[in-house]
Amino acid sequence: CGIIGYVGPESIDVTSILLDGLSKLEYRGYDSAGIAVLTAAGKLELHRRAGKIANLAASVSNGSRPGAGTLGIGHTRWATHGRPDDTNAHPHTDCSGTLSLVHNGIIENYVDLRQELIANGHVFQSETDTEVLAHLVEHTYFGEAQRDLPQALQIALKRVEGTYAIAVVSREQPDLLVGARHNGGPLIVGLGERENFLASDIPALLKHTRNIIVLEEGEIVELRPHSVVITDSAGSKVLRKPLAIDWDI
Ligand code: GLU
Repeated sequence: CGIIGYVGPESIDVTSILLDGLSKLEYRGYDSAGIAVLTAAGKLELHRRAGKIANLAASVSNGSRPGAGTLGIGHTRWATHGRPDDTNAHPHTDCSGTLSLVHNGIIENYVDLRQELIANGHVFQSETDTEVLAHLVEHTYFGEAQRDLPQALQIALKRVEGTYAIAVVSREQPDLLVGARHNGGPLIVGLGERENFLASDIPALLKHTRNIIVLEEGEIVELRPHSVVITDSAGSKVLRKPLAIDWDI
């Protein structure tokens, strides 16, 4: 029920940024949590735990902490499809381990999409509706979109019915974080200096920035360390002045 994402120019402790952001989203309610961090070795390292964020934090500090990286996403889940366990917690991954994705909301047509993807050779690991998104984006990423992640997401979402706020990353694009929202959300962008953030709500970002852009219905956002590009559902670029947040939590 909460999303956090980070992209920056050089390796920093992304794990701490994500865990801290998730703890600020705890008030939204959740039953499990997870993070994916792109490590210097180019691997999307995944940690997921049922229960409290403290469980997740304990699991990443027990030896295998990914720590530093340029890119990461995190999620607090409120299960709608699939029980609240470690495997159903987000982020979810595609078959090749290239992509990592988090989602808030419900994919209404996930049964049909799942059957179609399984018929095309995709292997599923969880019981969630969300996992179809990871496989669908993988399909368009390696197919029609030719490894253009924003385009892959845009094409994939045309097939999707339901409500969503999404964040997705590719291990092939260490400087790119992509978000989208449709009937779900909220999803906001935090503008940093040489780094940018994505989150479900402002408190998750106040430690890092007070310059916020609220994404609107049907928009897709591409965040890189030095730029944020928003595209509306008609494919036109959107120019939106950031809000300057002057309150504290
Ligand atoms: N429907 C998804 C699931 O059950 C996402 C739930 C949420 O918004 O946290 O995994």
